[in-house]
Amino acid sequence: MRHILTNSHKLALWLSLLVILAGQLGAAGWSTGAPAGAVVALARIDLKSEAELAALAPIGLKVYTQLAGEEGGLVVLAQADLQQQLELAQRGIDYQILESDVQGAEYYLLYGLPEAMRRVAQEITPLLLVEGRQAVAHLTPSQIASIEALGVHTTLLVAQPFSVPAPERSVALSPQLTYSPLIQRMANQITSSTLFNYVGALSGEQSTVIDGAPYTLLTRNSLTTTPINKATRLAYEHFMGLGLPVDFDYYNFSYYGNYYEKRNVVAEQSGLTQPGRIYLLTAHLDSTSQSPSSLAPGADDNASGSAAVLAIADILSQYHFGCTLRYILFTGEEQGLFGSKAYAAEARALGDNIWAVLNLDMLGYNSAGTPATLELHTRPSNGSDLSIAYLFNDAVTAYSLGLLPIILQDRLSFSDHSPFWDQNYPAILAIEDWTDHTPYYHTTGDRLATLNMPYYTNFVKAALATFAHMGCLLDGEINGVITVATNNQPLQNVRVEARLNGQNPQTTFTQATGEYWMPLINGSYTVRYSAEDYASQTVSGIQIIKEQATVLNRTLQPCQTVKGFTISLSALRPSVGQEISFQAQVGSGAPPVTYSWDFGDQNTAEGAAVTHTYSSPGVYLVKATANNSCDYPAELYQPILVDMQTLYLPVIEK
Ligand SMILES: [Zn+2]
Repeated sequence: MRHILTNSHKLALWLSLLVILAGQLGAAGWSTGAPAGAVVALARIDLKSEAELAALAPIGLKVYTQLAGEEGGLVVLAQADLQQQLELAQRGIDYQILESDVQGAEYYLLYGLPEAMRRVAQEITPLLLVEGRQAVAHLTPSQIASIEALGVHTTLLVAQPFSVPAPERSVALSPQLTYSPLIQRMANQITSSTLFNYVGALSGEQSTVIDGAPYTLLTRNSLTTTPINKATRLAYEHFMGLGLPVDFDYYNFSYYGNYYEKRNVVAEQSGLTQPGRIYLLTAHLDSTSQSPSSLAPGADDNASGSAAVLAIADILSQYHFGCTLRYILFTGEEQGLFGSKAYAAEARALGDNIWAVLNLDMLGYNSAGTPATLELHTRPSNGSDLSIAYLFNDAVTAYSLGLLPIILQDRLSFSDHSPFWDQNYPAILAIEDWTDHTPYYHTTGDRLATLNMPYYTNFVKAALATFAHMGCLLDGEINGVITVATNNQPLQNVRVEARLNGQNPQTTFTQATGEYWMPLINGSYTVRYSAEDYASQTVSGIQIIKEQATVLNRTLQPCQTVKGFTISLSALRPSVGQEISFQAQVGSGAPPVTYSWDFGDQNTAEGAAVTHTYSSPGVYLVKATANNSCDYPAELYQPILVDMQTLYLPVIEK
């Protein structure tokens, strides 16, 4: 039942209630933190904007959630005992009591209740609050399934001590997205087959190897023990396999009176130039269904988001980013966002400088033949959130992904992005169109076969492009086609070696089409092209610009490169001071052929026949090189033991 009172009425009421309060303070309170015996009511507090949140801080409320008001403004749902109600009234804050006593009640946020279904929902349980597509009701475990069957998303609301979030860093991302051929190439690496396999493994369609043994993930429900531990271990091993530092982030929560300790999985790709600037790509790994402890495939909710995070990490971890990228898989989401709440609060407490959170939840379902719509949820008129959503929208356009993003500034708080809002970090939720969401939601029927793979794959490509454009990508790309100068035919297996300021060479080879491409951190490069039977080429001063592609097509002249290179030595185990003769020759190659020797003791020589004497005992690695005008040198390595008798000594070919 709802009470509508003006502030003056409330003040009059307070005076009379104060008497009652004095009487009641003796009795014990129910896990609300209110003085023992105090009755705690469910209050709806209406604020004009987030800026007014600070006024609530001194009252010490416990807040369930914050919603965007249908008519604008912010609706805060909180527990309030009589004393706190008095303080609200005294501060002229507009509030209503929705329920006089929260004792024993579990409140749920309902999302996506179609207008037409409201009456049906009311028959299941009274809707205490309705704001646009969101509503609040208290549900018993048995009522949850019937409400969800109406196509509603439910999230348990847990009242938490309210603290004014740290002032937001206004971090509007770059307003204009510039198409990047490099990011296009990254997005091209996202394939339906990879996603299909990852979702298949996560949702128990096929067994997978975890902890070195085959295991089938029939459920990933957070209240289980082995299954959820295996699921988080799988993610941990995946990130470790990419060479990313990864950790389990342990947290605990109580749920229906039971105490749980669970873990999130956090992998980090440290930024090279601005490591303190952090971007998060997140998804919840846990699942639920009508038989959560035994079978909860959760292919769409949310193996689809988890697989997306794994697949995007596969690709972005091959590139250099100036800022730090964190890949996070949360658990405890289905029970009430417990994993992300713990993580977001910890990040704020540690002072993590999080510039944006892109949270992925349910990316896989879209009815055949319907528009490929998806939803991007932000806080109302929040510039930082909106800049993330606009970037996502621009990425869909720039990379021609054929999706229809809808930006909803409705502060929808039923997934892991919202605890970051509560800590005032910029974040958005990307989710399939809820008006066409999976009919198998939270059931054992939420399986891989129900996903729309083309829609899902493009959704993941869009998420990758958005995250790559966020993360201060340092790489540009060099690409081109190598052909034969005499007949323009493409040349395969040309070795392309790029050196940044002459250092740390990075190499790739041309494909059958003669094409090559290589991501390179931005800077000035010397690039060398070499292949057997062709004259090598070296080009210097090649500028690589971040996010852009530098195209360098080359033609190579046929040339008789040296082949069949052999060397012989007069002694393999000489003594100190003993002169050794070295002979070199090649089987073929355009003359003149030059020979050079590095004796491994800082001494070198030129010529097909040379001699050398070692002045101290030891193992030396002799390097011999044969080359000619084609500049495709042949190299041989020969270890020599001076005054050392033990080892077998093979000739090593490069
Ligand atoms: Zn979900």
